[in-house]
Amino acid sequence: MKGQVADETLAIFDVYHAMMDSASLGKEVEQTINDGWRAQTALKLVVEQLVNQFENLDDEYIRERASDVRDLGNRILAHLQNREARKLNPPAQCILVADEVTATMLAELPHADIIGMVSLRGSGNSHAAIMARSMGIPAVLGVDDIQLNEVSGETLIVDGYNGDVFVSPPLQVENEYRQLADEELALRQKVMQARDLPAETTDGVRIQLNLNVGLNTERDWLNDLNVHGVGLYRTEIPFMMRERLPTEDEQEELYSQVLEQFRGAPVVMRTLDVGGDKPLPYLPMDEENPFLGWRGIRMTLDHPEIFLVQIRAMLRASVGRNNLRILLPMITSAEEVDEAVRMIHQAYHEVAEELQCSVDEQLFEPQIGVMIEVPALIYQLHNVADKVDFFSVGTNDLTQYMLAVDRNNSRVASLYDAFHPAVLHALKQIIERCDGLNKPVSVCGELAGEPGGALLLLAMGYRNFSMNSYNIDRIRWIIRHISAADLDEVLQRALASRSPQEVKQHVIMALENAGLGGFVRAGG
Ligand code: PEP
Ligand code: MG
Repeated sequence: MKGQVADETLAIFDVYHAMMDSASLGKEVEQTINDGWRAQTALKLVVEQLVNQFENLDDEYIRERASDVRDLGNRILAHLQNREARKLNPPAQCILVADEVTATMLAELPHADIIGMVSLRGSGNSHAAIMARSMGIPAVLGVDDIQLNEVSGETLIVDGYNGDVFVSPPLQVENEYRQLADEELALRQKVMQARDLPAETTDGVRIQLNLNVGLNTERDWLNDLNVHGVGLYRTEIPFMMRERLPTEDEQEELYSQVLEQFRGAPVVMRTLDVGGDKPLPYLPMDEENPFLGWRGIRMTLDHPEIFLVQIRAMLRASVGRNNLRILLPMITSAEEVDEAVRMIHQAYHEVAEELQCSVDEQLFEPQIGVMIEVPALIYQLHNVADKVDFFSVGTNDLTQYMLAVDRNNSRVASLYDAFHPAVLHALKQIIERCDGLNKPVSVCGELAGEPGGALLLLAMGYRNFSMNSYNIDRIRWIIRHISAADLDEVLQRALASRSPQEVKQHVIMALENAGLGGFVRAGG
């Protein structure tokens, strides 16, 4: 796949490799064989147990890893049984439909021939979905009303925007979609051509684009995206993938890789944000309301040894590089900031002394930032501002806490919407307050990577966005095709709206009027 997909996507196979490593899956299979089972059975037992464990987790992203384990298990089993690999010979221009499309399945098929994919199982968080996205293949996952045998050899339409699959559509629908697909292709080619150009509106407002990185399946260590730096590095995934806390040395190695990859560009590393839907398997957190519980900074301040080790590892990794910034998650009050900042300074002096670094030549004092994601902090900014260098808005959690909607509870999922007018008012207040305090503020939640979200944030006055790599080109293009001065009207309409749906109608209309509707629906 090298050369066909982005390097970040290839990292999926590193994860597979790591899983097979003798320290994880391999070791357990060996153990089971030693218990007396034959190899095939041992493999099945271990894989089933792991799949069960993954499927029972709350975090949708981690739950999706079950399909990776299952895929890996099937592949090893095929080798154990010497089964001849079935040679797939897809016709040109085909749509891949499977009970469960896996990343390796996509990798095996000739990339140029697959123009769409449908997976009956899975969700938008699966590796297959991540890969399809980076290969530019429209995909629909989690379709329960299609039978595999009824689609074979038929004409299909896959509308990834709406999550629609049409089987044997009437000719006029087919023609309509053909035209939309042509427009889409033209748009994509145009968007990529602007990669080297600045993210600047037609009336000269410059936006800083940064990357969100950290899920190790999504290693966005790409320098060719023309980004300013890393706006959010989520450190918790390596902590969750292990059976124990990673040591200071292990963390240092990991953070060094990131800082080195982005040498010369700022990298905002967030301190451990576990709890909520991201518990550590080796640190029991049995809580009634985990999102309102022992999460993020609350946990790490109760465990200074965990916090200090992480900060020390970050600082040691930053020696000679000077691009580290530290971000504190889940801050609710000024005292938490005082305490965290005190510990960061303590770690800084410890590391400087231990390494006998000449301060300000090799070990630079990192900038410190605070995430605005708990609504209470909006009213505390003046008490925190002089202790920190910057703020970063986490719209994912700000939305869940403002609307009192658990972001992972499917029963109330329809109530979770970052386009809720109340959330928009809060975001507007935040930028006004930060401007008043003269503190830089960025947005690193998903809203910044959404066409309509970026539009509204820009209109409010935000100038620094951080998002996943795959949104960067699109958002840059959108910014380059709007005038900041013209956005005030849509912002006022959005703020005056009574519902998220009404907000979205206004936003879609603004995008359509600017000739940018192709980013929120099929077509160009
Ligand atoms: C957020 O809450 O918006 C955020 C960026 O952090 P996370 O999604 O990791 O909670
Ligand atoms: Mg958050």
